Amino acid sequence: DPHVAKFVYDFTEGNKDLKDLLGGKGANLAEMTNLGLPVPPGFTITTEACKTYLDSGEEPAALRDEVSAHLDALEATMGKKLGQADDPLLVSVRSGAKFSMPGMMDTVLNIGLSDKSVQGLARQAGDERFAWDSYRRLIQMFGKTVLGVDGELFEDALDAAKAARKVTVDTELEAADLKKLVTKFKKIVKTEAGRDFPQDPREQMDLAIKAVFDSWNGDRAKLYRRQERIPHDLGTAVNVCSMVFGNLGPDSGTGVAFTRDPASGHQGVYGDYLQNAQGEDVVAGIRNTVPLAELESIDKKSYDRLMQIMEILENHYKDLCDIEFTIERGQLWMLQTRVGKRTAGAAFRIATQLVDQGLIDEAEALTRVNGAQLAQLMFPRFDESAKVEQVGRGIAASPGAAVGKAVFDSYTAVKWSRSGEKVILIRRETNPDDLDGMIAAEGILTSRGGKTSHAAVVARGMGKTCVCGAEELEVDTKRRRMTVPGGQVVEEGDVVSIDGSSGKVYLGEVPVVPSPVVEYFEGRMHPGADDADELVEAVHRMMAFADRKRRLRVRANADNAEDALRARRFGAQGIGLCRTEHMFLGDRRELVERLILADTEAEREESLKALLPLQKRDFVELFEAMDGLPVTIRLLDPPLHEFLPDITELSVRVALAESRQEPHENELRLLQAVHRLHEQNPMLGLRGVRLGLVIPGLFTMQVRAIAEAAAERRAAKCDPRAEIMIPLVGTVQELEIVREEADQVIAEVERTTDTRLKLAIGTMIELPRAALTAGQIAEAAEFFSFGTNDLTQTVWGFSRDDVEASFFTAYLEKGIFGVSPFETIDKDGVGSLVAAAAKAGRATRPDLKLGVCGEHGGDPESVHFFHQVGLDYVSCSPFRIPVARLEAGRAAV
Ligand code: PEP
Ligand code: MG
Repeated sequence: DPHVAKFVYDFTEGNKDLKDLLGGKGANLAEMTNLGLPVPPGFTITTEACKTYLDSGEEPAALRDEVSAHLDALEATMGKKLGQADDPLLVSVRSGAKFSMPGMMDTVLNIGLSDKSVQGLARQAGDERFAWDSYRRLIQMFGKTVLGVDGELFEDALDAAKAARKVTVDTELEAADLKKLVTKFKKIVKTEAGRDFPQDPREQMDLAIKAVFDSWNGDRAKLYRRQERIPHDLGTAVNVCSMVFGNLGPDSGTGVAFTRDPASGHQGVYGDYLQNAQGEDVVAGIRNTVPLAELESIDKKSYDRLMQIMEILENHYKDLCDIEFTIERGQLWMLQTRVGKRTAGAAFRIATQLVDQGLIDEAEALTRVNGAQLAQLMFPRFDESAKVEQVGRGIAASPGAAVGKAVFDSYTAVKWSRSGEKVILIRRETNPDDLDGMIAAEGILTSRGGKTSHAAVVARGMGKTCVCGAEELEVDTKRRRMTVPGGQVVEEGDVVSIDGSSGKVYLGEVPVVPSPVVEYFEGRMHPGADDADELVEAVHRMMAFADRKRRLRVRANADNAEDALRARRFGAQGIGLCRTEHMFLGDRRELVERLILADTEAEREESLKALLPLQKRDFVELFEAMDGLPVTIRLLDPPLHEFLPDITELSVRVALAESRQEPHENELRLLQAVHRLHEQNPMLGLRGVRLGLVIPGLFTMQVRAIAEAAAERRAAKCDPRAEIMIPLVGTVQELEIVREEADQVIAEVERTTDTRLKLAIGTMIELPRAALTAGQIAEAAEFFSFGTNDLTQTVWGFSRDDVEASFFTAYLEKGIFGVSPFETIDKDGVGSLVAAAAKAGRATRPDLKLGVCGEHGGDPESVHFFHQVGLDYVSCSPFRIPVARLEAGRAAV
């Protein structure tokens, strides 16, 4: 029946483009199978099956039959039945969502072993030790991940068995020891889970599949998804794969490999290999791995084949791949591949390397990096010339410079960071339980584990600084301390610094210096010069790709010449928002205060006259810094009381003076004014265009300052391009009145200076009414700039100054939104208003210029949205300009 959903795909049926349905792991296993690479046969249960199960609480009826059919086929291929007593087929059950997700149930190996079939396996393999080792691993993994037994109990029992034998590694345990351990493990299961370890192989498999489904909604998985903004409704696939064994002796083993160095991007042999081991052993740092290159001397044939396969994969995926493999008695098997995680720096380098190799083009290269990575590369680094006390060195697992107080458990990390402390989470090794501590910490330091350890992989994914495997540090989590070589002890709360780019660990606070990428943008480092490293070169080239590709222009939010010049160095194509209120602070506050308090026309005129030359000088400097490029100057926006003293403070001062019978006339007058101007909801009060309409002369003074500054620059044969922007307009009438006055002033300045100024006048769209009547407003505006901060505030009814601290955490936790709408544009609500207003505005005035100057202008996801709705430019703070350029380029691919 074609209408019945297909819930199970054989590895031969899928391909890499079916990640939604088969998950990343399943899709890539299928892809490798179809490339003819040695993948053990198996099948994948789809995410649809998982979703159906999670929605209804029951496995879909058809699923069991389909699984049976595929298991039959697998048994036929392998020539043995699951758990068959004399020669058992064993399978692994592995989770695999569309995005790789630590925190979900990962793997149960050796399913199909039981008290009976363990004997059969021993006979078939001719190795009793191996069979019992496999069985104890099954009970351990099954007990922990399927039945929810505390994993430490098994670990403790294993340690006890080793201690009893006086051996240090598990490979030294003999069959008899392992047999006893199996009995012990079964007892643990019985006591802890209240049931026997299931002896029926099909029951084992079915329970494991269900556990994978359930793990999608585990706490850690949910936390990870929120953090990474992965939708909660994707579900996970489940891979059932016939077992191959890396623990069959010294000619067997298991490993992980990267086709390039995930830290530098260089091509070469990167990875770890562990002889006579299975599954998680490599990643868990249980025994010491050897560098992958040593496999060449251990098993040349497998090594050569692996190198060949790695080349096939790189050329096929046209990207860095990471790989899990197992060697079973000299036979190489591929257990997983995926396009590998990498550091931000490596992402840029690899993208340009692949272009140079002719594997991808410039447009494709842009899809291989993102703005968040670029932002990460712009973080400061440690000052290498600083006098510091280096106490250790581990593996540079995830770059960055992190300084914070040492904490030794996730609970403390979360608690301290909530109270505003910066912390470094120090662990022997991390596991998925440490996720919230890792999120809370500035950086993560471990004493065990390699580049592929949990800490390293997760930290890289989060863009968090991490040094792992710093072996000379003795971490004692129970006593909350760490001993460094030489015997010095670092207690909880002591400050440490870790460098995720070099792996170095320091005591105390190390000063930081700007990143070379910022030095490059600042023009202090040049690509191609001797001191420029490969990273700067790669960033330089990627920025050029983006600039060639993008349609959106990028401007800066800047209010002074210094910021404007920096913005220009960073690639700004003008100023999209100069907030003139920032020019009224400092010494000028008093002048503004006098303006606000003026009782008479003459007083007001006088203070405006005093402000005019100051404003004019500000604008001259801005035009100079941005010569030849547009400079959008917004007339005064905030509520006036922001320029006046605090009402409570002032009341106290007045009361005090009164009681001391001191003169306090001025204070009293000020207090009365403050009272007069006090508003319950100042953000909805006398601000924006409303100020211009009720305070005579204020806006015209600013317009005059702009016009005169422009005239002065023109007289100096320069090219000022001023645009005057009116804030918080709700109706075209407001704009018309202000415009008329402004036009008069401009005409007057043009007459007296004999200059044609060509000043554009436009408005911000930051109120819902403005957006809804954009067609009318465009009659009086030559440009729109969407003020998405206020627009978000007014569309949602969220106070932008309060909500992030008050209830947003609860909203994020409940999944009402995955990210604050003040950070990433709310496409459905605020965004659709922007799109509609843009359309209506252009219908009235086809050459209407459209931009955005709210915080969203520098947010990667929002930049893509503004590209899609056809804006002309985004404007953001100077430091975010490179990110906006890159994302605008990516949006145009
Ligand atoms: C806005 O509201 O988006 C805006 C840019 O103006 P401000 O942040 O100054 O209110
Ligand atoms: Mg605003």
